[in-house]
Amino acid sequence: MIDGSTTPMENDLRRARDELELRVAERTRELAQAVRVRDEFLSIASHELKTPLTALRLRAQLRERALQTSGTDYFTADRIRQMVETDLKDIGRIIHLVDNMLDITRLQAGKLRLEKEPLDLSALVREVIQRFERQIMASGSSIRIEAPEPVQGRWDRYRIEQVFTNLLTNAVKYGAGNPISVAVWGTPEGGHLRVSDGGIGIAAEDQLRIFRQFERATGEDSGTTGLGLGLYIVRQIVESHGGKITVQSESGRGSSFTVELPYE
Ligand code: ADP
Repeated sequence: MIDGSTTPMENDLRRARDELELRVAERTRELAQAVRVRDEFLSIASHELKTPLTALRLRAQLRERALQTSGTDYFTADRIRQMVETDLKDIGRIIHLVDNMLDITRLQAGKLRLEKEPLDLSALVREVIQRFERQIMASGSSIRIEAPEPVQGRWDRYRIEQVFTNLLTNAVKYGAGNPISVAVWGTPEGGHLRVSDGGIGIAAEDQLRIFRQFERATGEDSGTTGLGLGLYIVRQIVESHGGKITVQSESGRGSSFTVELPYE
């Protein structure tokens, strides 16, 4: 226009352009943040994988040297037993990390398919505890189980085992050697599972975010390591069964995680 003022159409165009620019800037920020989270995850994951791998390689090199200098004499039954035990521990750690990473990929692709079957929650809990007994003893903790009756439902055995294993290993890891207790019971709404420890606890402000991806409430100085994926995977599995998970905790006063699963 000759007098320099703008027409309504020009105004609309300008507004649309400003809005578009704002949206592009916002999306760019989101993408940059996603890349940062991914890079941080890759760096922690590589570090976590490298620790047990380096330990395995070091021990393999020591054995090679022992074989060269002392022949097979070095390899007494006791030494071999000890080697197998430490190797299995490190291999277990690597497998656990890789499994978690695969689960994250599956979850992000929306491919976590459940294979439900009749399952007794009480029996499953006892089975898993038996498998972890040595690890629990080694941590200095003791464990009490309260699962007086079968609690039958239709759940994915492998996934529910994963839920319980994650909660149990966290109770051992963050339990500071204090007693752990596990309870299983049924209500008309569904099966319930509770894992409680008397360990370091979780501050109120951290209790929501620990269920999100890559979130840890404990720093590296705590001496514990982890990718911050376990509870995220646990929550996804529980929710895909139509259930829910809650935490009750106080800093320094232990934690109690409760899972509720509808029977079907
Ligand atoms: P990770 O143990 O690999 O860090 P998780 O997702 O299992 O990852 O747990 C997330 C965070 O929640 C942990 O880093 C820890 O800070 C906190 N946490 C989980 N379980 C417990 C527990 N039983 N007691 C205290 N803190 C816990």
